[in-house]
Amino acid sequence: MRYAVFSFLNQLILLSQRNKLFMKYFKIYLPVFIFLFISCGEKEIDENKDFFTISPANLTLNIDAKADNIFYTVSSDKAIQVISDSPDWCKATISNVSFDNLKIEVSENKLFQSRKAIIGISNGLENKNITINQAGVEPVITVDRNSISVQYGKQELTLEVTSNVEIHFELPDWISEKSGNEWQKGKKKYEFSLSVLPDDLLYREGLVVIKPTDEHLNDYQISVAVTQKATTKVIAHRGYWQVPNYPQNSLAALQRAIDLEIYGSELDVWITKDGALLINHDPTINGINIENSTTDDLKNVRLSNGELIPTLRECLELIEKQDITKLIIEIKPHSTTTNENRAVVAVLELIKEMDIAGQVDYISFSQNICQRLIADNPKNRVAYLNGNLAPELLKSQGYWGLDYSSAILKANTGWISVAKGLGLTTNVWTVNSMPDFDQFISLGVDFITTDYPQTLKEYLLTIK
Ligand code: MG
Repeated sequence: MRYAVFSFLNQLILLSQRNKLFMKYFKIYLPVFIFLFISCGEKEIDENKDFFTISPANLTLNIDAKADNIFYTVSSDKAIQVISDSPDWCKATISNVSFDNLKIEVSENKLFQSRKAIIGISNGLENKNITINQAGVEPVITVDRNSISVQYGKQELTLEVTSNVEIHFELPDWISEKSGNEWQKGKKKYEFSLSVLPDDLLYREGLVVIKPTDEHLNDYQISVAVTQKATTKVIAHRGYWQVPNYPQNSLAALQRAIDLEIYGSELDVWITKDGALLINHDPTINGINIENSTTDDLKNVRLSNGELIPTLRECLELIEKQDITKLIIEIKPHSTTTNENRAVVAVLELIKEMDIAGQVDYISFSQNICQRLIADNPKNRVAYLNGNLAPELLKSQGYWGLDYSSAILKANTGWISVAKGLGLTTNVWTVNSMPDFDQFISLGVDFITTDYPQTLKEYLLTIK
């Protein structure tokens, strides 16, 4: 109605601007129109005077588990009252003095279940219900890891658990909780002790179960694998040469490894044009290419300690005098298959002649060399160095084991257990740091080839 009067008034103003006579009468009757306009508006308010309004109009609220204050604007010309009994966690109060005159105070919900309250208010003529839905606390349990591998010699493990619900642990009988493990809300480090591993066991595994005290909530399980005794053996890389006058691949370095009772000592073998088996890492020595030279060409070459280039026979003669240190013979890839084959034949003949097969293993980057060693006798212990064959393939081709770089095995840690499952041996080269020693020992590799054999050997002796 008020709008209709307003529209009519607007049209009259437009007419008055065009017509002076009409303007005259319009001025006379203008107060009448204004009265009519105001009267129409007052009549609408009168029509609603027996009711009250409340905003927000949506009277259902969903809130999270935290405490909160909710304000409503309520309009009425009559006193408003709360007419329902609200629960303790949801208090409704009406001030009747300000525009936000209904306040609902919701306290924190520490229960897992959600809860609901209905607040009824009335002005005596009309009732309205406000519904409050409050979420429950979601139980939170997080652990810093899902599985734990405990390394040999370490008689404890820890877990960092974040939990907003009370928990306790269920443990295998060989794991016990340390004192001070009582639950506290939030993140906490829990400590456990391991019992001494029986002599006949090298490995054991079990489950740590985190159980909420509220049995309606789900468990949280963590697998624990413990290797408490190291089985890894040490291979000296090119002998023991970490002291002056013991160059790599020298008789002195080999003898030093033997004297230190290192499990194995590795060396590199080349064949000369005239069939001599010489020990050197690189294809050349003092600028002379070994496989393209004769023994005579090399007779004056000396190592830094004055030794002549060792022969494989001389090395084997040191090995056969004792029964602790094995010789790991790496036959180097030669420039031709013919030379590789000559080297394999010469090495095998020498081993047979000296009857020393039980004290040597073979390794090579060349699949041709490896396959010829295996073909000669499937019992020859041959490990492949180049890292590009999966354990299953090595097994199918008759290899004794894999001997891969630490980078390859770090990228393929699963190969170690696969190889073990297939009955292959595992060797990793060249590992020189304590963290890497730890990693590969705990992965259970059979052999670590290192430039620091004495350090690794002493470390392994501490692991019991
Ligand atoms: Mg080598």
